[in-house]
Amino acid sequence: MTTSTLALTAAASGFARRGQLWFYSDDLASPPPTRAQLVRVRDAEGRDLGLGITGTGKLCLRLAGPWPGDDVPDRSEFFTARLQAAIERRSASLGPDAACRLVHGEADLLPGLVVDRYGPVLVLQGTSAYVEECLDAIVPFLVQRLGSDSVVARHDVAVRRFENLPAEVRLLHGSRVETVVVQEHGLRHTVRPFTGHKTGFYLDQAPARALVRQLAKGRSVLDLFAYQGGFARNALRGGAVAALAVDQSAEALQVAAADARADGLEGLTTVAADVFEHLRTVRQDGQQFDLVVCDPPAFAKSRRELDGAETGYRDLNRLALRLLAPHGLLVTCTCSHHVDGPRFEKLVRQAAAGLPFRVVLRQRLGAGPDHPVLLTHPESEYLKVLLLQRMD
Ligand code: SAH
Repeated sequence: MTTSTLALTAAASGFARRGQLWFYSDDLASPPPTRAQLVRVRDAEGRDLGLGITGTGKLCLRLAGPWPGDDVPDRSEFFTARLQAAIERRSASLGPDAACRLVHGEADLLPGLVVDRYGPVLVLQGTSAYVEECLDAIVPFLVQRLGSDSVVARHDVAVRRFENLPAEVRLLHGSRVETVVVQEHGLRHTVRPFTGHKTGFYLDQAPARALVRQLAKGRSVLDLFAYQGGFARNALRGGAVAALAVDQSAEALQVAAADARADGLEGLTTVAADVFEHLRTVRQDGQQFDLVVCDPPAFAKSRRELDGAETGYRDLNRLALRLLAPHGLLVTCTCSHHVDGPRFEKLVRQAAAGLPFRVVLRQRLGAGPDHPVLLTHPESEYLKVLLLQRMD
């Protein structure tokens, strides 16, 4: 045990008391850290603010929650306790072929670490230098605790460059598996840990996929930005008459078709195309749908891109609303951190204005309970989903 301590300035201490978790070198009363490590953090009056993880990038301190006593635990003690608690919080979702986010960064008091479990395969995303250094403590604990066959690092994320970490995908434990099949609400999903999007799958949309299944009976369905057709296949399982999945990735759509066949689902059509171009064709043909799902990638990856992103969301939602048949439903999503709930609703409201029918907001959803939102860290509430209905 060591006792490295960092102190915040008076101004930063106020922010910390109000729940801020991330600090820059200006916020420190101590000299900036010269390496990534676990430290004890104190406010300007010497009061304990728990543990912190330092980095040598611009973002040089992230608070990592309370810890008993005055000391700094060694890294394996710290990660064992935090990982154990995160796993226990999800103990109901750990079936042999279940999929679940096990660790959701700051919301699990583990800044810079995400771990997704796909049955026997774990996919880990570390975005801080400290996590990178501690993989030799993290990975063996997870493997031993969960009995996992393999662990993959999906370190191909842009934020890693802020801590001078390489973008890479590599096997950390076990043997390489290209695909693993998991079950969600009784449907199969083929996850590609090395080559799929994000950590291989969009785990966060589980609640919206369940909602679509519930609403789909007897409806014609259009799944825009479908990836592996998770929404389209749930709609078919829920009794949709037909489902059309559109995505620019032909590879993802092949997986969609194969998963549908394996589950005995009929009525799936896939189109590998740019959604915006495809929507033009659909409109020209006068096609309408009883249920449209619109789940685009984040249009605003930074605050700077916000203006363009707002126009994008407004236009896309107007196009999607125009495709609704009478009484039709639209499930519309944004996963942009920078577009918060009220802002997204404003854009959707603007999209609905001027249409020849009225639109009601029937339900708001977000990511599932395995992606907890830390109340003082609004960035952790990145996924917003709205259920809209055309009123006739
Ligand atoms: N709905 C999916 C997740 C969608 S993620 C699910 O629940 O699993 C966004 C998807 O949009 C990705 O699969 C990506 O390939 C696709 N995409 C991004 N831009 C696109 C575009 N302009 N046209 C078509 N697809 C696009």
